[in-house]
Amino acid sequence: KPMENRITDIGPQKYDKFYPPVIAKNKGKWLYHEIIKPGVLVHVAESGDEVYTVRCGGARLMTVTHIREICEIADKYCGGYVRWTTRNNVEFMVDDKAKCDALITDLEGRKFDGGSFKLPIGGTGAGVTNIIHTQGWIHCHTPATDASGPVKATLDELFSDFQNHRLPAQLRVSLACCLNMCGAVHCSDIAILGYHRKPPLLDHEYLDKMCEIPLAIAACPTAAVKPSKVTVGDKEVKSVAVNEDRCMFCGNCYTMCPSMPLADQEGDGIVLMVGGKVSNRISMPKFSKVVVAFIPNEPPRWGTTTATIKRIVEAYAAGANKYERLGDWAERIGWERFFDKCELEFTHHLIDDFRDPAYYTWRQSTQFKF
Ligand code: SF4
Ligand code: SF4
Repeated sequence: KPMENRITDIGPQKYDKFYPPVIAKNKGKWLYHEIIKPGVLVHVAESGDEVYTVRCGGARLMTVTHIREICEIADKYCGGYVRWTTRNNVEFMVDDKAKCDALITDLEGRKFDGGSFKLPIGGTGAGVTNIIHTQGWIHCHTPATDASGPVKATLDELFSDFQNHRLPAQLRVSLACCLNMCGAVHCSDIAILGYHRKPPLLDHEYLDKMCEIPLAIAACPTAAVKPSKVTVGDKEVKSVAVNEDRCMFCGNCYTMCPSMPLADQEGDGIVLMVGGKVSNRISMPKFSKVVVAFIPNEPPRWGTTTATIKRIVEAYAAGANKYERLGDWAERIGWERFFDKCELEFTHHLIDDFRDPAYYTWRQSTQFKF
């Protein structure tokens, strides 16, 4: 039967169905926008219409109760419209200043029992916006660190910079809990990356029953996995062998084959990378570079990770020129001085010496200068 005009609930509906009326009316006809104060923006259209946006920090994982409260606020002030940014901020939009003021007063009064804001306003301009992160220990199978735990602890440390514009430029912090990286850690000002340091274990007894062996072999980017035959009890079974010298602990094989786990209490931890960005301003977009090769997992408050990040942010705030992103600052003063100023130890793990001609073909910039 023809499927035309069928209405289903499969997949997202077309985005423009959800534009607030003032956005739909002025689409493509905006004159300018400005940040009135941290977390509050105004967009002005050619028609004279204004849109005030109040940005609030949200959690990546939200309870239904919390989402209901957000929807109630949207119903009360915004005609039922609300949007989420890619960094898990919630944005309420209204079309006049009086409504905006009432909305802000309401949001500022909403607190948890302990006194912290339910929907803190901020995350714009020259400050820290919400930390984007991946799934962590509960929701993925390959993490080398948790996601929401270290992110909460880090944002607690940086919270004042979520609420003000003290920094020289915006500071994007991201977390990916393994280097398969469904976060944006390759291009963040500060990136928290979960890293395994041990090769996968091999559960020979179940491997052939649980896994497509050719798939596990093909999944390895360094060709470290090869087929093998192993004796288990009195039987010879099909399995795989791992060349440990070639393994870079990425976990791809485990993604394909649950009988190759590599999570390990001592082996797993955090790498810090800095200086990445996607903007063309001042300098070309760049990848983040490793500056701390390993920090052990320290739940629940991740003390070493958060203290190190705080040190980097304070050194950046004190030393960078206005509009310089963290990587621009490090390049201007030299990476050696960056390590001094942030009190980071330089080790041989940090030497960035990609010599493989294969890498020369990577486009490291949207400007395609080389
Ligand atoms: Fe899973 Fe890795 Fe993504 Fe974390 S970054 S959610 S471990 S694939
Ligand atoms: Fe290969 Fe990565 Fe598995 Fe190591 S962890 S064997 S590099 S797929």
